[in-house]
Amino acid sequence: MKTLLAGYRRFRSHGWPRQRDALESLARNGQAPKALVIACIDSRVDPAMIFDAAPGELLTIRNVANLVPPYAPDLAYHGTSAALEFGVRVLEVAHVMVLGHGLCGGVRALLEGAPEKAHEFVEPWMSMAGSARRRALEHASPEERQRRGEFEVVKVSLANLMTFPWIAERVAAGKLELHGAWFDIHSGVLMTLQGDTFESISG
Ligand SMILES: [Zn+2]
Repeated sequence: MKTLLAGYRRFRSHGWPRQRDALESLARNGQAPKALVIACIDSRVDPAMIFDAAPGELLTIRNVANLVPPYAPDLAYHGTSAALEFGVRVLEVAHVMVLGHGLCGGVRALLEGAPEKAHEFVEPWMSMAGSARRRALEHASPEERQRRGEFEVVKVSLANLMTFPWIAERVAAGKLELHGAWFDIHSGVLMTLQGDTFESISG
C-alpha cells in the first residue's frame, strides 16, 4: 500500500499537471477511444505502455491469457463479453486487438496443468483454449510448445470474437477490424498476426 500511495503522490506532482488539460477535456466531453485491446493480466504487459497511449485512447480488457470466450448470452457473469459489448456497441471502436505475450503463465497452465491453487477458476477458464493446447503439443520442445500456445490462444480469441453477431456484422460492413499481436517481454518487440503467421514490426 505504501508503494501504491508513493506512486500516487508522484502522479499528483508530475503526471497530473501534464495530463490535467487532457483529462479535464475527457471528463467534460466523454471518451471516444478508437481501439480496444484484450490483453493478459500479466504485470509486464501493459497495453498503454506498449502502445504509448494517452488517457482516453485505449479501452483495455485484461484477463488470464487474453482470452475471449465464445458468445453465450446467458445469466453467467461474463466480464469480458460485457466489456466487449460496451466497447463495440456503445463506444463503437473501429479496432479490436487481441494481444498475447511471451512467458504467459495462463498458457503454461493450459499446457502443463494449472498450479495447485488455481483449479477453481484458472483451469476452467483456460479450458476454452483446448484447440490451442492440441496444436501447441504438436511441438517437441517446451519452448516451442509455449510459444505456439501463446500464438494459438490469440487465434482462439479472434475466432471467438467472430461468434458475437454484432462483431461479425461490423466486420462484414467494414466498420470494425480485428487484429492479433504478441509481445516479447525479453526484447520489447511486438509481432502482429499477418494471415496465419506472426511477423515482427520494425522500429
Ligand atoms: Zn499471460
